[in-house]
Amino acid sequence: MKITDIRTAVVEANYDWTFTRVYTDEEITGIGESFLAPGLVSIINELKPLLIGEDPRNVDKLWSKMRWAASGAGSMGGIVYNAISGIEAALWDVVGKHYGAPIHDFLGGKYRDRVRVYADCHAGEALEALTPILLERQPKWVEVGAGEPAGDDAGINYPAHGRAHGDPSTEEVFTPEMYADRAREVVSEMGFTALKFDLDVPNPYTQDTHSGTLTYAEVKFMASLVQAVREAVGDTIDLAFDCHWRYNVSDALRLAYELEPYGLMWLEDPVPPENIGAMRRVTQGTKTPIASGENYYLRFGFREILETGALDIIAPDLQKVGGLLEARKIADMADTHYVAVAPHCIASPIGTIASAHVATAIPNYVALEWHGMSVPFWNDMVTGLDGPVIEDGYIKVPQGPGLGVDLNEEVARQYAKEGEPFFGE
Ligand code: MG
Repeated sequence: MKITDIRTAVVEANYDWTFTRVYTDEEITGIGESFLAPGLVSIINELKPLLIGEDPRNVDKLWSKMRWAASGAGSMGGIVYNAISGIEAALWDVVGKHYGAPIHDFLGGKYRDRVRVYADCHAGEALEALTPILLERQPKWVEVGAGEPAGDDAGINYPAHGRAHGDPSTEEVFTPEMYADRAREVVSEMGFTALKFDLDVPNPYTQDTHSGTLTYAEVKFMASLVQAVREAVGDTIDLAFDCHWRYNVSDALRLAYELEPYGLMWLEDPVPPENIGAMRRVTQGTKTPIASGENYYLRFGFREILETGALDIIAPDLQKVGGLLEARKIADMADTHYVAVAPHCIASPIGTIASAHVATAIPNYVALEWHGMSVPFWNDMVTGLDGPVIEDGYIKVPQGPGLGVDLNEEVARQYAKEGEPFFGE
């Protein structure tokens, strides 16, 4: 079997869902998804000559070929691995279809028939839709007026995550009641048993969005959001809160300490990701479990974190970390330190189901993220399932060959990003 072509398509959803299709001389094709990044489609196209004519079954060798080809330009990590991750997942889809077995069979088989999913919840009315450089945007499928990006009037084009976000006085204001209402809704109407909310939301107590500091009133406000959610859903629902890398070590610790009574599943990214020693100080200074991982690439990105006990839970994003087999290797490494894995995911059902194949194959699994609540056509993006992708907060891992589902090209074409090729068209 030989690879004959590689083509891409981009769907403008809440994020740019970027798909790679691998074509072969045996009428088998495979589909994979990459995490958004500036210039992503051109990187995928640049990698294509490395793969044409190769046997797609040699996944690890082809992975190495792409990796070392990009090494001079910085293969220690970075966006090139977003591209490689999508291609690698597409290769596994080809391999599975060729042998008539699901992807997880090639990753060690199943620990579980269905994998637990946690819902990423947004308490406000505004849709969070971001460009590849994290600027807020209005996708063309959103009616004007409904779900307008928060802070649209501010005229400040700051990225929505990390430090230095927009002027808090002009943004949507959140209340504990809004958090409680959304939590109740997601649990009772959708059946999820695990939820995640943003904690770093605009509030009246912020003094400075550049400094990484928190005022005491802000810490108390954040604790009131967490308390409201815990009281709304009770102790049988697992809760995580995300800080998007905003705070310094001492304020992250003040916050984590304040949240200890609420028994969180984890507090995510309280400090920026680069300084592992600083992250370890937070993790080891609080009973609140600390999670991070969506910024790191490859086994090597997690090595020091695991060896030094810098995190309680790791959250690699399988559409960028380096591939599905690489994720399996990272999970095994984490397991030697008795650390659990909760894969980050903002993908379409294609990437989400690829992640579910890994999730069932690893022992030390917690839950997989679902970030598609605000996308009305999320479930319609795949063919090959009887019902919705996620039911009652779980994904039944597909048992068909390869990924077990395919991209619904008719629906994908409807939401295709302008100016991007659609699988060569
Ligand atoms: Mg996060």
